[in-house]
Amino acid sequence: MAPAEVDPSAPGAVKILIAEDEPVSRLRLQSTLQRWGYKVTTAGDGAEALHEMQKPDRPGIAILDWMMPHVDGLDVCRSIRATADRDYTYVILLTSLDREEDIVAGFDAGADDYITKPFSLHELHARIRTGVRIVRLHEQLRAAAMHDSLTGLLNRRAFFEIFEKEVSRAKRQQLSLGILMVDLDHFKQVNDQHGHLAGDAVLREAARRLRRRVRATDVVGRYGGEEFVVALPGSDLKQAVSIAEEFRHCIASEPFEVPSGRLTMTTSVGVVTTWDMAEAEHLLKTADEALYRAKAAGRNRVVADLRTAA
Ligand code: GH3
Ligand code: MG
Ligand code: MG
Ligand code: MG
Repeated sequence: MAPAEVDPSAPGAVKILIAEDEPVSRLRLQSTLQRWGYKVTTAGDGAEALHEMQKPDRPGIAILDWMMPHVDGLDVCRSIRATADRDYTYVILLTSLDREEDIVAGFDAGADDYITKPFSLHELHARIRTGVRIVRLHEQLRAAAMHDSLTGLLNRRAFFEIFEKEVSRAKRQQLSLGILMVDLDHFKQVNDQHGHLAGDAVLREAARRLRRRVRATDVVGRYGGEEFVVALPGSDLKQAVSIAEEFRHCIASEPFEVPSGRLTMTTSVGVVTTWDMAEAEHLLKTADEALYRAKAAGRNRVVADLRTAA
């Protein structure tokens, strides 16, 4: 059966900010958008709008009235663009100014679209649907850029970005953070003896087993070809070792199915925690050295760097 068509402009989880200083218009717009199925948040002036945009679950679409006291819609728009990081905010300017130079100024401030007052609700709805489509597209592109397409895990760059944040958070809150560097043993033989597609299947399955053994808040990445890396926020060395042992066991104890048969795989793991070591890069290097010792000691084992134990 073909998968159900998903309308890319359906309201879904997209949240919309309405920034409008005129209370009656604001309320009317709010109830209309809610009736259309959108999650709505409102602001009565530009400063409030900026505050909304700084929240963690900030809106994907901002409908900004141009004329507002103090911080106007154009300023809000500029500020959104100046602080633009990962998530795209689609900005629709609401304005009674429709001279050519005003429209140009609006786009130059970073608006994606504008609508002049008084406006038809039908038209606004259509413009919002366009915004939803763009926001979704951006989310999809971002997800694709962050993930490894074979295993679905974070790719190396995305892992490192999140990992750096976790390391600083752990330092700030004085929490430990466990790190596992995982490498499949003699993986090259799988490719050599069973072909690259079998190798791919093994990598996918190993990633799935790894993902299943950790918590949703743990960060799992594909670090290289047959290397994975896991950050375990809140885990000390002992807990991290126990997760590493569980994972090692779940690879070794259950064969991997490939088209040409069943393969027994093993894995080696290096474990460290964020003790007093500072930088993210240094932590990964230390974990890699522990992994190297696990390989040298005969593979299918977990080696922890005890110097990093609290
Ligand atoms: P060791 O126990 O020392 O880790 O040996 P190994 O064979 O696992 O390690 P080695 O680094 O010699 O080989 C890793 C192999 O992984 C080589 C490379 O061709 C293969 N590889 C890397 N990425 C992929 C991939 O995406 N798919 C497949 N099928 N193979 C890959
Ligand atoms: Mg106004
Ligand atoms: Mg290997
Ligand atoms: Mg390797």
